[in-house]
Amino acid sequence: MCEDRKDKIEQLTQRFRELLEEKFPGKGSTLAQIEELTEEIGQAIEAEIEDSAIGEQGDGKECRGAFCACGRKARYVRNYIKEVVTLHGLRRISRAYYSCRVCSRGFAPLDKQLGLDGGGTTLPVRAKIARIAALAPFERCACELRELCGLDVSAKTVERVAEAVGKAIGEEAAARDAEIISGSVPEPACSPERLYVTVDGVMASVDKGWRECKVGAVYETRAAADGRAEAVHIEHTATFGDAEAIGDKLYALAFRRGVVRAKQTVVLGDGARWIWNQARDNFPGAVEIVDFFHAAEHLAEVANSWHGFGTRKAEGWLRRAKQDLLEGRHARVMRSIVAWRPADAEAKKLKATSLGYFRRNGDRMRYDRFLAEGLHIGSGVAESSCKVLVQARLKQSGMHWSARGAEAMLQLRARWLDEPTVNFAAYAAMPRQLPQN
Ligand SMILES: [Zn+2]
Repeated sequence: MCEDRKDKIEQLTQRFRELLEEKFPGKGSTLAQIEELTEEIGQAIEAEIEDSAIGEQGDGKECRGAFCACGRKARYVRNYIKEVVTLHGLRRISRAYYSCRVCSRGFAPLDKQLGLDGGGTTLPVRAKIARIAALAPFERCACELRELCGLDVSAKTVERVAEAVGKAIGEEAAARDAEIISGSVPEPACSPERLYVTVDGVMASVDKGWRECKVGAVYETRAAADGRAEAVHIEHTATFGDAEAIGDKLYALAFRRGVVRAKQTVVLGDGARWIWNQARDNFPGAVEIVDFFHAAEHLAEVANSWHGFGTRKAEGWLRRAKQDLLEGRHARVMRSIVAWRPADAEAKKLKATSLGYFRRNGDRMRYDRFLAEGLHIGSGVAESSCKVLVQARLKQSGMHWSARGAEAMLQLRARWLDEPTVNFAAYAAMPRQLPQN
């Protein structure tokens, strides 16, 4: 062991001893006091170990000069301090900075050795930031990180890290999806009995306007206690892109879940035409079902417009119409709506669009048959996916996003949701910037 290292360990051990002598809890302490002092001693010694070990690395100044990536000898400029927040606090690291006369590239050899990039935080810190940023608004994240982890980072840093991580996750997924779509990925061995694919849209405030976020989910079902099918193993995918973009993402997700060998594929959606166009392209031969949740929403609109919002009559009509749909009396629901004599233009329009909707989707609303076959008729998997993925994180009051930020946050949130133990550090590299002081 070299003398310097030996000395450092000796110094740290001495410091640890001092800390213990000064703070070790005395007899008669409460558990809370013991816990607090243990934490204090631990934190103090962690910071000193880290400082000492960083100091051990030197400043990266090369006595025979540093070489640029272009192969030429670079000129030493001066030492720059880089501030980095680690799990143990803020570290100020002095690094020798070189500049290449030939290609005018600047670099600090120590950055490469320490694995420093353009960010002011370490990868383990960013992993924590990304995890909490998937959950809460950026300002709130900064507060939680301080309270829960003792990490002092700004809301802006949280935002920057979250965006970088979400972007990296999205890029990785896009590359993987492209491979699947190109047909170069072997079929997975799994062959589910029934694979469900569902998709829905939800608006969010992006670039000073409203943009539709399309949210898809793939799942299987198991028999619940009441005998009905219940959704399990739900995985999500989402994008602010167009119908084709979500179609590709859903196909890739379903492919990984064994759609090629699935005995039956079921596509659930609301009445929007793009959904069924995408379904036919990507899942030919699939059973198409209008998510019962959406069909019921449409019925509720009619009930409220016809009989007055929330009135007993409206409730009664809605209950009967839902029952009719569930029991295969689609024609009776149609007749009932036909018989409605709306008073104003708005109601007339609703009548026309509702009739169109129920007529166009009649075959997708044979709920009696679907239920008899043990099929899941939706009941809001798509809706709750929108809520948990988009509403809960991107649509809180006063939230506005850039297109880039919204898409990145969506990818971060989806990954966090589907893979709770994901290590975000793997996605947390940040681009290099110019030297800092
Ligand atoms: Zn160079």
